[in-house]
Amino acid sequence: MDATPRGQAASAFIELLSDLPTHATILHLLMKFATPIYLAAALACNTAPARADEAPAKSPTGYTDTPFLPGGKWRVHDDARPRPTVVTPGETAASAPSDAIVLFNGEGLDQWMMDKDGVPADWVVQDGYMEVPAKGTGVGGYIRTKQEFGDVQLHLEFATPAEVSGNSQGRGNSGIFFLGAFELQVLDSYENESYADGQLSAIYGYKPPLVNPARKPGEWQTYDVIFEAPKFDNEGNLLKKAYITVILNGVVTHSHQPYLGPTGHKTVASYDRVLEKGPIKLQDHGNPTRYRNIWVRELNLNAPE
Ligand code: MG
Repeated sequence: MDATPRGQAASAFIELLSDLPTHATILHLLMKFATPIYLAAALACNTAPARADEAPAKSPTGYTDTPFLPGGKWRVHDDARPRPTVVTPGETAASAPSDAIVLFNGEGLDQWMMDKDGVPADWVVQDGYMEVPAKGTGVGGYIRTKQEFGDVQLHLEFATPAEVSGNSQGRGNSGIFFLGAFELQVLDSYENESYADGQLSAIYGYKPPLVNPARKPGEWQTYDVIFEAPKFDNEGNLLKKAYITVILNGVVTHSHQPYLGPTGHKTVASYDRVLEKGPIKLQDHGNPTRYRNIWVRELNLNAPE
């Protein structure tokens, strides 16, 4: 054996080489367990993921130290302010939500009566719709709901006769009267020339719709309407006009449009009577117009906040 330092170093190197399999095994073991050991250690030390015993940070449900809104009743984001009532929406936007009153679901007219004398409504009911009786059948006339309403949201579907007869106001004419008096016109306005304030979705005798999105005769069309009833003081003075917002076939035709008064024919309407509540009335104008899926939600737009 070489006893010089150089010889000793050479011997050590030879020894290392001879032990190489052993070192490789250690290296292999390290490679095998290092990653999981490192991960476990990191998890134990890491504070970023939520620990089981630590609840996530809570957002405030409201505030008690923010400035007051105009009027001074509620603060901005006030924690004490009552939350809106929960309403379960219908399956689609055309389906009645949980707080709606269904006025016609395709089966019967028990929510309706004849306008002139209050006897049971005699319109034709078949295949899920009601229809204005044909002329000369001895039945028919305006019908109205048994229940009276003020401010409402109304959904209603209608179809003017598939078989076109007549023209202008004689073609597919009907109408929806809020409070039994404020008409939203129903007419076959598909390529049917008539005066602007009398066509489909007009505030009859006053305001034409913004546009004419009428579907073809016989096709089902939808009205989604917000009607705000007029308000009067105790002496019968008008405090607030009636207003209507209308979406016809998905298209806005009136946006918060005031009425001049209860609807008339060839007259300028005015608020000539105190009327804050009333039935919803459907017009028999002698054309077999169909209606289906009618529901209404009562709105209390003047409720205190
Ligand atoms: Mg009409």
